[in-house]
Amino acid sequence: MRDLKDFFFEPACGLNREKDKKEREKGCSRPKPGSASGGCAFDGAQITLLPIADAVHIVHGPIACAGNSWDNRGTRSSISDYYRMGFTTDISEIDVVYGGEGKLYEAIREAVEKYKPPAVFVYQTCVPAMIGDDIVSVCKKASQDLGIPVIPVESPGFVGSKNLGNKLAGDALFRYVIGTKEPEYTTPYDINLLGEYNIAGELWQVLPLFQELGIKLLACITGDSRYQDIASCHRAKVNMVVCSKALLSLARKMEEKYGVPYFEGSFYGIENTSNTLRNIARLLGDKELMERTERLIALKEEEVKKKLEPYIEKLKGKRVLINTGGVKSWSMVSQVKELGMIVVGTSSKKSTSEDKKRMLELLGDEGMLIDEPNPKELVRLFKDLKVDVLMAGGRSKFVALKEYIPFLDTNQERMKPYAGYEGMLVLAEELIRTLYSPVFELCKEESPW
Ligand code: SF4
Repeated sequence: MRDLKDFFFEPACGLNREKDKKEREKGCSRPKPGSASGGCAFDGAQITLLPIADAVHIVHGPIACAGNSWDNRGTRSSISDYYRMGFTTDISEIDVVYGGEGKLYEAIREAVEKYKPPAVFVYQTCVPAMIGDDIVSVCKKASQDLGIPVIPVESPGFVGSKNLGNKLAGDALFRYVIGTKEPEYTTPYDINLLGEYNIAGELWQVLPLFQELGIKLLACITGDSRYQDIASCHRAKVNMVVCSKALLSLARKMEEKYGVPYFEGSFYGIENTSNTLRNIARLLGDKELMERTERLIALKEEEVKKKLEPYIEKLKGKRVLINTGGVKSWSMVSQVKELGMIVVGTSSKKSTSEDKKRMLELLGDEGMLIDEPNPKELVRLFKDLKVDVLMAGGRSKFVALKEYIPFLDTNQERMKPYAGYEGMLVLAEELIRTLYSPVFELCKEESPW
């Protein structure tokens, strides 16, 4: 099993930098009992790699590991639907007694013969890790025998949280995939996106902007990607880490090994999108591209601001509470404020002090930072802050609906894409649909019987 200490000392991670040596040694926060479902390291690793849609992803473990995590993300692909299929070794009591390595080898062989993928990813889960199944050796042998890359992802759930699983997945890509092939051709405008999973098709909202500027997306890690893209993405000129701290260590390692500079950016909101495009052009270092980018930004901003006017009329002054995690907490604040809404509070869970500072600046006097509110606290916040709409993940959905508070899903299960200039229009439409839905007023009325 990989030594996890390296991840806790990751110099690129702001949260690590803020800790003293003793705190760092304790590692990242672990899931509390009962919260492993949808939040363990295996789940985190799988959601990072599953969007590599032409590869087969085999979960080595009991059926529940694959079953509980199946299709729990709104990622989209234009290549294949392997990512929506569930491959698992389904190990049982007999395998616990005799070991599950033979079964894993057979599962890999069967999947390769039947589906002929360019690569197979194998995920380690708690039970086979505890009985000592050596997935690294099995993958190595299968790879030699079958003649395709078989990548072990050592991510048993008990090692930590979903976030750590994201990092373990990035590590597997760096160790076994990136740099193993050469791209068919390169241009001076090749970039990679790290931590963009094409949820609800958000990557597709941004790609036309790149195309208009002549920027080539060498690989998206991992939304709508092919195995070959990722294997050859070390020739990119710039890496952009999209709204996620989890793949920062991958970006840092790629900079050290292949000299690819990186920056963190966001496509949520008009200003964030424009600044991100500026940063890409600046790092690519082409003066003509920088000028072209400014022209495109001016055109797109004018266009979207005009289209947003009727929406802003309806959204202006509405009070929104945002309860989402990480970098999204601040990037969504600026996005919502651009719609004329008042952000009365945003979650600062998992945020670095740098993120918190940025959030406070954006919130001004009207909003506050909230930690991780439990359902009871959320209800209190709805009343105290006079919340008109809650933007959060599925876990808060029923708390809001029971209180007749309009709710908009902004996490991984969402069905609508909110990225780039186009995403602003979609978000505005969805907010209006939610806020002005007659169902909330009807529910508040006395029953006629
Ligand atoms: S890997 Fe472990 S924690 Fe995660 S779902 Fe499987 S058994 Fe549960």
